[in-house]
Amino acid sequence: MIAVYIERENGRAKKSSLEALSYAKNLAVKNSAQSIAIVAGGEVPSDLGDAGADAIVHVTDGNLNEFTPEGHATAISEVCKQKGVTTLIMAGTYAGKILAPICSVKLKAGCVTGVVSEPDLSNGFVVRKSCFSNKAFTMVNVKSDRKVLSLIPNSFEVGSFGLTPSVESISVSTSVLTKSLEVDKVKGKIPLTEAELVVSAGRGMKGPENWGMIEELADILGAATACSKPVADLDWRPHGEHVGQTGITIKPNLYIAIGISGAIQHLAGVSSSKVICVINTDPEAPFFKVADYGIVGDAFEVVPKLIERARQLKGL
Ligand SMILES: Cc1cc2nc3c(=O)[nH]c(=O)nc-3n(C[C@H](O)[C@H](O)[C@H](O)COP(=O)(O)OP(=O)(O)OC[C@H]3O[C@@H](n4cnc5c(N)ncnc54)[C@H](O)[C@@H]3O)c2cc1C
Repeated sequence: MIAVYIERENGRAKKSSLEALSYAKNLAVKNSAQSIAIVAGGEVPSDLGDAGADAIVHVTDGNLNEFTPEGHATAISEVCKQKGVTTLIMAGTYAGKILAPICSVKLKAGCVTGVVSEPDLSNGFVVRKSCFSNKAFTMVNVKSDRKVLSLIPNSFEVGSFGLTPSVESISVSTSVLTKSLEVDKVKGKIPLTEAELVVSAGRGMKGPENWGMIEELADILGAATACSKPVADLDWRPHGEHVGQTGITIKPNLYIAIGISGAIQHLAGVSSSKVICVINTDPEAPFFKVADYGIVGDAFEVVPKLIERARQLKGL
C-alpha cells in the first residue's frame, strides 16, 4: 500500500499533493499495490481520483482542522500503521518538510527528502535526491521496509487516471502542543511554490514603485511574482516572494529574472527552473551564465515591450 498526505488550499488539493498522488499511483501500479490519499481534518477535495487515488482515508478529529505538525503526523502515521502502508509520500512543501521526518520516526521508516526521480526498483529502492541547494544530486537506496519520501514540487506531472475512490472515515485521537494564533497569508493569485511560470525582479528595478510592470507581465502570463533577497529586505516586496538559499526554492517551467545579478545564493533557489530567461543591462551579469535566453537591455524598455507582445499573443 502506497499512501500520500494531501494538503489543501481553499478546499482544493494543492497541485504539489496531486503530483505526489500521481507519483504514488505510478509506483503502486509497478508494485501491484493500491494508492491511498490521506486527508487530515476539513473536507475531502474532489479531484483525488483523477490524480490517482484508489481510495481515500479521511482522518477526523477536532484538532486536525488546523495544521499542526504533531497532530497531522499522528494522524498520518496511525493511518499508515492501520493500513499496512509501505511507502508514504508527500510534497516537499512547508508542511511536508516538517512532517516527513516526524512521520519517519513514528513509523521507523527510512526517509528521503527532496526527491526528484521515480524510484528505480531494479536493485533495491533507489531515488535521486537534490542536495546542497540543487548544486548536486545523490542517489539514495532506501533499505528499510517502510519508506517516507518528500518530493520537490513541480518535478512530476499530475496524471489523469479517472478513478472513483472509496472514502473511509477514521477517527484518530490527537493531542496538539501548539496553536497558531494568526495566519498572515502571502497575497498573490498563484502560490509561488506551485507556479509553472514565475516573473521575478531584483534591485535593478530601482524601487517598489516600479513593480507595476512586473505584476502586469505576471498577470498576462498567468505567472507568480518573486524577488531577490535585498528586495524583500528593503521591504519593496513581501518576504514570501524571496527566492534563493535563504528564501523559497522553486522549480517552475519558466523563470524570468529581471534586474537580478544572479548571485550564487539567488541561483540556489531557482537554478532547477526548466527554462531561465534573464533581462539585465550588464552583459557580464553572472545570471547570463545559467540563462537559456538572455536579453541585454534596460528592464524599463524591455518589459513594456514584452507586455505589449504578450497582450497581442494572448489577444488581450
Ligand atoms: C548568506 C547569504 C544568503 C543569501 N541568500 C539570498 C537569497 O536567498 N536570495 C537572494 O536573492 N539573495 C541572497 N543573498 C544575497 C545575494 O548574495 C545578492 O546580494 C542578491 O541576490 C543580489 O540581489 P539583486 O540581484 O536583486 O541585486 P544586485 O546585486 O544589486 O543586482 C541588480 C542587477 O540589476 C541589474 N540592473 C540594474 N539596472 C537595471 C535595469 N534598468 N534593467 C535591467 N537590469 C538592471 C544590474 O546590472 C545588476 O545585475 C544572500 C547573501 C548571503 C551572504
